[in-house]
Amino acid sequence: MNELVIPSPAKINLFLKVVGKRPDGYHEIITLLCRIGLFDTVVLAFNQSTISVECAHPRVPEDKSNLAHRAASLFLDALSIHDGVAIFIDKVIPVAAGLGGGSSNAAAVLMGLNQHYGLPLADRELGGIALKIGADVPFFLIRHSAIARGIGDYLEVYKDVPPLSVVLVRPTFEVSTSWVYKNLSLGLTNCEKSFKYHCFEEAFSKVNDLLCNDLEQVTIRKFPQIKIVKRALIDLGAETALMSGSGPSVFGLFRDRHQAKKTFHSIRDRGEWDTFLVDVLRP
Ligand code: ATP
Repeated sequence: MNELVIPSPAKINLFLKVVGKRPDGYHEIITLLCRIGLFDTVVLAFNQSTISVECAHPRVPEDKSNLAHRAASLFLDALSIHDGVAIFIDKVIPVAAGLGGGSSNAAAVLMGLNQHYGLPLADRELGGIALKIGADVPFFLIRHSAIARGIGDYLEVYKDVPPLSVVLVRPTFEVSTSWVYKNLSLGLTNCEKSFKYHCFEEAFSKVNDLLCNDLEQVTIRKFPQIKIVKRALIDLGAETALMSGSGPSVFGLFRDRHQAKKTFHSIRDRGEWDTFLVDVLRP
């Protein structure tokens, strides 16, 4: 086969608590990650002599710094394969928005290459390469909601996320994840909630008890608009709203798809922010 087309979904964090900082400077977290139905498309074309990346989005690099390029390079090196691959990315997921688009693209490349070469790498080996690219990359390989711990490297599949619709709002500014962690003051983390496994198995009302994101305080301090987006989502019918990852994307959650649609239209019609109506992917 000369070409593979791979859907590459975004993620949201339903819970993100920073639990400490390691001597090497990395923060340890516990987070619940869910894939949502907002996709980039990654196309791999084989029979090439070099690795190349094409993406029309102005904020996405096309050189070796592209996470998809890095994924291809690490995969081919690990197996001493001297082929190249041409990677085309149709970018739909907002960039630098806390939605994991680059990590998802990298995982798509790893899965696509592994499939093309006849599955030479087992899940664990592929996961090892993924972690070298970024903390969120291994998550996208498992294709389930998952709880991630450590620096995101300990993953546990989480099967109890209920059917949920999501109104996703992306304010117009971008946020760098490393800037957020640098400005996080551990003493001030305000997420008092502790992660309870049984929450989603119980009533949905418990989701409100569960949802929190320690990184919100950092991003909101610099960009108070995030608070305005959260307020707008809740005032217009979301059952709850939270910033995803390091932001600035904010999502509202709904059990009722009809209500989600109404809220989506109300927010989109204000014309202020990019707005998407999607569902949480299950599994
Ligand atoms: P993270 O929290 O992991 O930083 P994010 O969702 O906030 O993820 P991304 O959309 O992955 O952000 O982009 C982060 C940065 O990575 C951007 O500055 C972008 O230029 C760079 N980047 C490298 N490769 C990609 C890619 N394939 N898609 C999107 N961005 C990429």
